[in-house]
Amino acid sequence: MSIAKEHIYLDNAATTKIHPKVFEKMLPYLNEFFGNPSSIHSFGRKTRVALEESREVVADFVNAEPSEIYFCGTGTESINFILHGISFASQAETSKRTLFSSSIEHHAVLESFKSICENGYTTQSVSVNDSYQIDFEELKQFVDSDVLLGSIMNVNNETGSIQPINKIAELLKESEIFFHTDAVQSFGKIEIDVKKIGVTALSASSHKIYGPKGVGCAYVKSGTPLSPLIHGGSQERNRRGGTENIAGIVGFAEAVKIAKSEMKQNEEFVLKLKRNFIDGLNAIAGKNILINSKENTSPYILSVTFDPDFYKNDAESMLMFLDINGIAASNGAACNSGTIKASHVILAGGKSESYANGTLRFSFAPYNTEEEITITLDVLQKMVDKFRK
Ligand code: PLP
Repeated sequence: MSIAKEHIYLDNAATTKIHPKVFEKMLPYLNEFFGNPSSIHSFGRKTRVALEESREVVADFVNAEPSEIYFCGTGTESINFILHGISFASQAETSKRTLFSSSIEHHAVLESFKSICENGYTTQSVSVNDSYQIDFEELKQFVDSDVLLGSIMNVNNETGSIQPINKIAELLKESEIFFHTDAVQSFGKIEIDVKKIGVTALSASSHKIYGPKGVGCAYVKSGTPLSPLIHGGSQERNRRGGTENIAGIVGFAEAVKIAKSEMKQNEEFVLKLKRNFIDGLNAIAGKNILINSKENTSPYILSVTFDPDFYKNDAESMLMFLDINGIAASNGAACNSGTIKASHVILAGGKSESYANGTLRFSFAPYNTEEEITITLDVLQKMVDKFRK
């Protein structure tokens, strides 16, 4: 896989380029095999088989049963579906009305909880330390008989910090609290075994792993109370109405197969890129470029801050400078791009607004090259010269 030399794409946590094999696999389902999988004739049977085979691929990847996988539109929809679905389906069965998440969750989780709170629930937020790791001792204090559901992400999308989801799942299991993890940034990149971890539910998204946009999936452990978010037909075992996006789902399953077979080598390669990038940054400006993604972080994500004491802190202008020089990066979460609001994640790590405003995110893919990192470091050298106070 290659990208045009003049454009270096280091924003793979926002979205990824579709893998050529995924694209190829999808094409027949965009023209030749167009049947509705709910139809009983041969056209429908063809796409029904593709749908169920795709479900098996995704289920096998996380060691779930196919009946525990629900396809949906995006990672965001999966998160909304799981959090609303469990909360609302439990309302009649239990008096538990407290939910918790962390201060660094994606907006899909934070906004879902806000919406659920309009229906008689309250939420608590676990804080993080300056390495963006959740405070496990604080989380322990939240655990009581009124807590229904907790949602803690696996890998943070801005800093790459990895959260101890095994440990959290173990703790919550003892107290019979449902546990969802937003695995959008880890799915396809690290091994996930839902049975071993012991999570109740997990969200993933296709376009983060070289699959098409517009497809996500939810794993929900069998027996978990779960109401639909999208009401309509009986698709996805009555949990998600609407004709399935077959080409997208087939593409997602192909992306999962590729991710599974290349996971180890991809991880080793991007880790090398990330380390070289950090070494290069340190050589440029020593302590004046601060690394937010240190221990226990994903090799795919590197968050750095241009120290406000030394640089004019304006991530938008920095990103523009990089863009003019052919480099695509991000100032935190993709959905925050284009706004000047400081990242809630960087602030949650105890940093100031000017620190947050000087923060850039570089995120890697296996099709990035060493040469691209070298070119990017050259451009960054020019950038720091220009932005130094
Ligand atoms: N959760 C995390 C951690 C993410 O990084 C993202 C996307 O950036 C999402 C959820 C939302 O996924 P999607 O873009 O598929 O809606």
